[in-house]
This record gives sequence, structure tokens and C-alpha cells, in this order.
Amino acid sequence: MARLSYDYAGTVTLVTGGASGIGRAISGAFAAAGSMVAIADINLEAANAAAREIQAAGGLARAYHVDVGDETSVSRLIETIWGELGRLDNAINNAGIEANTVPLAELDSANWRRVTDVNLSAIFYCMKAQLRSFLDRGVTGAIVNTASVSGLMGGYNLSAYTATKHGVVGLTKAASMDYAAKGIRINALCPGLVDTPFISALPQPFIDRLVFAIPMGRPGKAEEMAKAVLWLCSDDASYVTGHSMVVDGGTSLGGTGTR
Ligand code: NAD
Repeated sequence: MARLSYDYAGTVTLVTGGASGIGRAISGAFAAAGSMVAIADINLEAANAAAREIQAAGGLARAYHVDVGDETSVSRLIETIWGELGRLDNAINNAGIEANTVPLAELDSANWRRVTDVNLSAIFYCMKAQLRSFLDRGVTGAIVNTASVSGLMGGYNLSAYTATKHGVVGLTKAASMDYAAKGIRINALCPGLVDTPFISALPQPFIDRLVFAIPMGRPGKAEEMAKAVLWLCSDDASYVTGHSMVVDGGTSLGGTGTR
């Protein structure tokens, strides 16, 4: 079966939330393609473990602490990467958290604020710092923001999450237009349900309902998300910007009738 392969040798790739799940798979995929990967996560211990695993497999990786919901922490991270690694070519703004799965009237306001900080304001903080670092140095780069199919469609008991992911899709579109003429491409990844620690925290009946709605009949694998990101950052996607790439086994098709 035909497979694409990529050469990212000589590049630096930042992956936020890179210690687990989709971010871990993206980190591994870029490292396997020759990139130096900056694995940035709020869980430094897990980021260090991921970097060690990648190094043991012959790849280049370094772990960094960041809280993407804190603008100062994000700015510090971007400057540290430029200082220590000397460049930044691909920025994958992937860290995200889940809201309580409850109807809106039962959603705790503190939870709303934290989900908004980590899933949406974080994308603004990350892109602002990354774009400024590109512009200051007169270089270009590729940015991919992890949204979700929840950025394109509604979802029961997911109001905060759905609102933030729609925001990520909107921010991606707007920012991509601001910087398209400068050669900086900004796209969004919209995964459907993916088998990661993120979903194992959800109640099983909730997961069962989500799986039932997937035409392919199974959750995605984190590696399947990473492959889409490898393509989006590559020169093969040189005319692709502002795009929301859906990788969801058909979930967002919706549709009527029964299987
Ligand atoms: P995960 O929980 O396995 O990994 C998320 C990582 O982000 C963890 O390593 C965590 O420590 C880190 N993180 C959390 N808060 C952070 C913060 N404030 N600062 C820095 N790092 C932080 O989750 P995942 O399934 O890999 O999800 C990754 C992204 O994909 C999220 O944005 C999520 O919304 C999105 N997504 C996931 C699914 C899914 O079904 N798993 C579906 C659609 C979209």
C-alpha cells in the first residue's frame, strides 16, 4: 500500500500538549521525519519521559514546561525555544482540556473559564508569540491548531468545549488571512473521537454514544491525526491555509437513517 514520507531534517517543531495522546503522536511523527521536537506540556515529567522515548528511538527532542492558558508562560516558551534551538519552523498548538459533560445550566463558571483559557485564549497566546517571533526574524513558518469536529458541529452536554473549538476554527481562519501574503500558513486539525487518555476520562455511556455516531465504527488513532499534521506543515500543502482539516472517520457527515 502506498504511503507518504516526509523529510523535516533541520527543522524545529513545537508541539504543545506534546506529552500525551495526539500531541505525543505528532511529536513522534515529526521526530521520525527528522525534526527536532520541542515537547511543551504542563506536565513536565511526562514531557521529559516522551523526549527520552523519542531520543531512545534515535530522534531529536527536548522537553519544556508551559501552561498554555498563561500568556507569560507561552511567551517565555517561544523565546526559550528560539534561544536554545535557534529556530522554529512548525508550531502545533494542540494542548486542550475537556469540560464537564453536563447541560449548560449545570456547567460550573470556573470550569467555563478554565476551558476557555486552555482551549481558546491559549491558541491566541501561542499564535501571537509565534507570529511575532517569525515577523521579528523575517522568517516564515507553518502553524496547526488542534480544534475538533466540535469546532464544526454541535454536541450534547459539551457547551464550553464546543464554544472554544468553534473559536479555534474562527481564529485559525482570521489569522491565516492576516499572514497569508507573508507566506505563513495557519490551519486547523479537526479530529473526531480519538483513542487517547483524554477520552478515557469520559463516562463510558457517553463514549459508546460517540462511537455509535462514527460511520467507520471506531475511534481514530492518534497516529492518524499526526499524519494529517505532517502533511499540513509540509511543502506539499503549500497552497493550503485557513483550512479546517477533518479527520473523523465520517463523524461530521451527520446524516439521517440508521446503519
Ligand atoms: P490528552 O489529554 O491525551 O493530552 C493533552 C495534553 O495536553 C496532556 O499532555 C496535558 O498534560 C496537556 N495539557 C493540558 N493542559 C495544558 C496546559 N494548560 N498547558 C500545556 N499543556 C497542557 O488529550 P488528546 O486527546 O491528545 O487531546 C489533544 C487535543 O486534541 C486537545 O486540544 C483536544 O481538545 C483535541 N481533541 C481530542 C479529541 C479526542 O477524542 N481525543 C477529539 C477532538 C479534539
